[in-house]
Amino acid sequence: MPPDKAGIIPRLDPSTGSPVNPTPAVNTLRPSACPGLLRIVQALDGGICRVKLAGGSITAAQASAVADAAQAYAGGVIEATNRANLQIRGIGADQEALIATLLAAGLGPRNAGGDDVRNLMLSPSAGIDPQMLFDTRPLADQILATLQSHPRFHELSAKFAVQLDGGEALAMLEHHHDLWLSAFVRDGQTLLAFGLAGCPGLNAPLGAVPLEQGHALVVAVLEAFLDLASPAQTRMRHLPVESVLGRLNLPLLPTDGFKRPPSGALLHLGTYPQEQKNQFYVAAIAPLGRLDSTMLKGAAQLANEYGDGTLRFTPWQGVLLPYVEKPHAVSQRLAQLGFLCSIEQPLARMIACTGSSGCGKALADTKADAVQLAALHPGHDVHLSGCPRSCAAAHTAPVTLLAVSPGHYDLYFRDPAQPGFGRLHAHNLSIEATGALLRARPRSNTDD
Ligand code: SF4
Repeated sequence: MPPDKAGIIPRLDPSTGSPVNPTPAVNTLRPSACPGLLRIVQALDGGICRVKLAGGSITAAQASAVADAAQAYAGGVIEATNRANLQIRGIGADQEALIATLLAAGLGPRNAGGDDVRNLMLSPSAGIDPQMLFDTRPLADQILATLQSHPRFHELSAKFAVQLDGGEALAMLEHHHDLWLSAFVRDGQTLLAFGLAGCPGLNAPLGAVPLEQGHALVVAVLEAFLDLASPAQTRMRHLPVESVLGRLNLPLLPTDGFKRPPSGALLHLGTYPQEQKNQFYVAAIAPLGRLDSTMLKGAAQLANEYGDGTLRFTPWQGVLLPYVEKPHAVSQRLAQLGFLCSIEQPLARMIACTGSSGCGKALADTKADAVQLAALHPGHDVHLSGCPRSCAAAHTAPVTLLAVSPGHYDLYFRDPAQPGFGRLHAHNLSIEATGALLRARPRSNTDD
């Protein structure tokens, strides 16, 4: 059920279907081209509904509800996004029933105006990672509650994003965020370094605060941004850093001692021990970010059977099951469901945007081409993009194929000295030619 005229989202009791605990909304929905849970956006293959997950986490029951909704009201295609959310594609005419099903499962925002701003990325191993410096989840809950309940923050763009990094070994450190916070320890004290319009893996921090002031820092930065930004300036990168820093009304500490260790290269794929004794997490990738209702329901069932009844989606467009004692069985069953569990599977190294089967801007069928390229065993991490918007990758991949016509791409190699996709290496390559070129190229040449 969508918000009523007062912007109130009725929450439905799953057993009776009656509204319960309606939450007053403090803002009405803003016009935006981005899908949300309450705003289904049309694409070539039907409507898209984006379900934003707090820290990528979802209960098994909620995951089953998403799977049921995708089956009943859409074409059954579910996407794991690179911001650790889920989206349902191919939604037909009964959009209200789909939204009602998701709200009844408790997947909606606290109020209508708060849906778009739930963009806070955590490590998928928050609270369970042996290398973490602190459990980010309580602070994340506090920040998310403020983002949703503070009416002024609903003015932020639906793309405005914040990252909270607790120093976990498993962390996406290359996705640009409007504001990032990253933990480090100095003289025995845990501090949060922060930066604007960048990421902890690539950019130097601008200052630091004690952990206890993390929430106050986020509020101060967002208020400074909104004070300074014109309506056309929707992202932090549109403002001079100094102007935002100059407006912060809290003391900043120096950042000496901050150096974010790199994330473990393959920790988003496979089985790894948790901080908690005798507990493991099992992580897998949804092929090209897509899963169907059977896969999602199957993963939810595994979380109930072998884990703690929760799943976490990852920025690698995959899923992680925490608190597993028998990881081998879980890994086998995930593979049987169609998830990719090993880097030896070439498709685990491909990402591709929606492509021409679902997006009017695409110049090629990127997903089908990625499958064809994977079969050629190119031996590199490759991103196929149907146009320069790069929806599938929030970072620069070692190899990018940018579509120029059906089945043909310009090929770029990542180069820190070059903006965008990197250095243009070849024009208008077929998939066969791309496969041959990449196979002949040593991996170290593209994994800078
Ligand atoms: S990158 Fe371009 S072609 Fe691909 S989904 Fe985004 S807008 Fe469409």
